[in-house]
Amino acid sequence: AQASLITSEKMAALGALVAGIAHELNTPIGNSLLTATALADMVAQFKRKLADGGGVRKSTLEAHLADAGTACNIIATSLGKAADLITSFKQVAVDQTSDKRRTFALAGVLRDTLATYAAQLRRASCEVRVDVPETLEFDSYPGSVSQVVSNLINNAMLHAFEGRGRGIITITAAVLDDDTAELRFADNGVGMSSKTLNQIYDPFFTTKMGQGGSGLGMNIVYNIVTGVLKGTIRVESVPEHGTTVIIALPLRVPQPVAA
Ligand code: ADP
Repeated sequence: AQASLITSEKMAALGALVAGIAHELNTPIGNSLLTATALADMVAQFKRKLADGGGVRKSTLEAHLADAGTACNIIATSLGKAADLITSFKQVAVDQTSDKRRTFALAGVLRDTLATYAAQLRRASCEVRVDVPETLEFDSYPGSVSQVVSNLINNAMLHAFEGRGRGIITITAAVLDDDTAELRFADNGVGMSSKTLNQIYDPFFTTKMGQGGSGLGMNIVYNIVTGVLKGTIRVESVPEHGTTVIIALPLRVPQPVAA
């Protein structure tokens, strides 16, 4: 009964996620469809005019081309948004299935993950400082840890304080006791209000709509930390000073019992 309860809770969560995804995609796809239809109508109308044999004035042609150009831009922007959303949705699905439990050094996983962000970090004028003991090992899910790191790096870059020098992201880790290590991700970015902080894990909550935000990043981080890695997470933030994400993780995550 316990197992099926968990399954039905998972199904409900999945249903809510799918509904959310459909809702989020509806706007850009709907916009593209409307605009493409209007564009097709415009082209058909223009063709008719030409077929009727009546000449078309240069100024009319220019006006039509300008409208067509605007329509194409709207379609490209809307589809770009849809593509961004799909990229972030893919992150939800990937790791849970492909990630294998094994012994790994946190420092190594951090290095590998950060290497994939080198160019983006440079573009965002962000520097990452890592202070993690090489000996710190987990018997857990490295792909999930990497995904958490990726999402937190993404957020730190997205919320770096523009126009105030370099963004500095500091990653530290320390063993708390025999069973637990604590990871800290600190940035010196824009920080957030307590109102934002209260909604940070809500799926689709974002203050970066249209600027690369999907509102799924922290929801995914929360689900992975608590669900897969069996840890806890808390966030501290000071507006205009920065944000620190504090994650406590068990050093050993037991093999899940087959359902
Ligand atoms: P997204 O980053 O796509 O907007 P997230 O779920 O990752 O979605 O984050 C939700 C919101 O929490 C962000 O829109 C932002 O307001 C806030 N937030 C998350 N991380 C940070 C951070 N490092 N600094 C400041 N604000 C943050």
